[in-house]
Amino acid sequence: MADRLRAALTGQVITGASSRYKKSREEDWPTLLVGRTIMGVRSHGKNLFIDLSEGYIIYSHMLMWGSWHIYEPGEEWRKAEKLARLVLETPGKVAVLFNAPLCDVIPPEHLQDHKTSALGPDLLAPDFDRAEVWRRIQLPENREKELGEISLDQTVLTGIGNILKSEILFQAGLHPLKPAASLDENEFEDFINYSLELLQSSYEKGMRKSFIPDWMRPEITSFGFVYRRRNSPCHLCQTPIEMIRQGEMQRSTYFCPTCQPLAGPVIPFQERLKPLQQTLRPTG
Ligand SMILES: [Zn+2]
Repeated sequence: MADRLRAALTGQVITGASSRYKKSREEDWPTLLVGRTIMGVRSHGKNLFIDLSEGYIIYSHMLMWGSWHIYEPGEEWRKAEKLARLVLETPGKVAVLFNAPLCDVIPPEHLQDHKTSALGPDLLAPDFDRAEVWRRIQLPENREKELGEISLDQTVLTGIGNILKSEILFQAGLHPLKPAASLDENEFEDFINYSLELLQSSYEKGMRKSFIPDWMRPEITSFGFVYRRRNSPCHLCQTPIEMIRQGEMQRSTYFCPTCQPLAGPVIPFQERLKPLQQTLRPTG
């Protein structure tokens, strides 16, 4: 979404702005926005930032249902007008934010107080800083948190959604109830490396194609290894998949208790795949 907005809007001047957010009336967003140039568009996890001239920023977060659309001037919208929360017009494009529950116009003097200033490192950023993630995991307020909860904590790291979380921990062989601060160096490296790999492939191929290797597809049709597979046998070891709820938000986490042991050695993902690989792709 950020890529599309960046390509369409960078360098354009905002000539019209309207919004249905209550905050927009209180803060007079049209006056804050019209006349400013769009300098760029960035994502940080699921947070999207449109950078404007003079240091102003439009912040939006899609949660599960928001989306930005780009239209030519006069083109018919693909969603109802009443669902539009913010409309930005430029001489060449119309950008419409539909349904997003979270949106702010941040003036430069409020940047430090905005909730996004506390965001942890972004897994998709070219300068992603894993040492900073480890430092944040060790903070007193995080030290007791379970790995399944930490994975979704935006103040520790950003980019992992609820579906990815279960699939990342499965491939890394890490039990979701382990306290994140108790991981040894290899386990932490696995957590980060599988997160980077799955997030990157989900960004490139779309999430639906990113979890199960292509050679498994003809035989195994499920979307991922564990997500929404409670009580079904693990594809790699036949143990029934379990589901628990974690964190303040009680988000679901799916895992295989054999592939992701709470204690003891972990069999690397590539090793766990081998028996199935030999059955599905006999060689020689
Ligand atoms: Zn298993």
